[in-house]
Amino acid sequence: MSDGLVFNETLYPGVQVSYGCDRILYQEKTEHQDLVLFSNPVFGKILMLDGVTQVTTADEFIYHEMMSHVPIIAHGAARNVLIVGGGDCGLAEEVLKHRTVERLVQVEIDASVVEFSKEHFADFNDGVLDDPRFELVIADGMKFAAETERTFDVVIVDSTDPHGPGAVLFSEEFYRNVHRMLTPGGVLVTQNGVPFLQRDELVTSIERFSRIFRDAAAYIAAIPTYFGGHMTLGWATDNPDLRRQAATVLDERFNAAGFKTRYYTPDVHAAAFALPRFILDAVEEGRKRA
Ligand code: SAM
Repeated sequence: MSDGLVFNETLYPGVQVSYGCDRILYQEKTEHQDLVLFSNPVFGKILMLDGVTQVTTADEFIYHEMMSHVPIIAHGAARNVLIVGGGDCGLAEEVLKHRTVERLVQVEIDASVVEFSKEHFADFNDGVLDDPRFELVIADGMKFAAETERTFDVVIVDSTDPHGPGAVLFSEEFYRNVHRMLTPGGVLVTQNGVPFLQRDELVTSIERFSRIFRDAAAYIAAIPTYFGGHMTLGWATDNPDLRRQAATVLDERFNAAGFKTRYYTPDVHAAAFALPRFILDAVEEGRKRA
């Protein structure tokens, strides 16, 4: 460990998570955020943006598999997918494993995140930028959503938390524009924090979803470096049946997709929508507030 250097995650006031640093691999104050990439003996490479852990080489598979395969396999016929954020391109790599996906557009505000990820995260984003189906747009996702005429079957918001440049991606205006972009029966999935520590963010997202979509829900995944217990992924669609697919349907679709995973299984997919009571209470509170 380089002379005992540690990086503290500062997401939750009163709580600090410290990561030992073997070596700082890349550091930059970009146009949008403070970026640091360092190596840690347990989690491998860790990316922090504005002091918040974004992705690590050790547990990125959990997060990227659950944010991509759950909506795409639930949908069953997703041809056009949009990612907002996702600068490390790990999520894009998972989406592109679906040969049925014809076009993946990724709108990322910070070119620096993509640039350095090409070199430092090649172990999980390899091949993305060369895939002819992939289109990278460097822009604010909020502006893109307000102006685009394009439509998508699945929209996945792999953003930072609702502070700094990511805040607009949690707004009702953004969600309304996503609703306009979605094809009938399409679905929005959002990075929606760790409800044990960020409950209000989940309640507020569900409240805003509920004003716009017929079905506002969430599902969970356990990501070791998203400290504080289960992480929730927001779910919004006009097709309430989309999150209630029969296990046989999920099985068939996953087997047809023909790739291996390390976290996602059809059973994990179905179970992810079974929320612990305290998280379900937060979702129901958001629905009631709408
Ligand atoms: N897995 C992480 C998490 O759950 O917090 C997110 C990872 S990814 C690195 C987050 C990305 O969102 C970053 O690359 C950041 O630049 C991007 N981002 C933040 N605000 C944005 C905006 N308004 N439009 C597009 N991308 C944005």
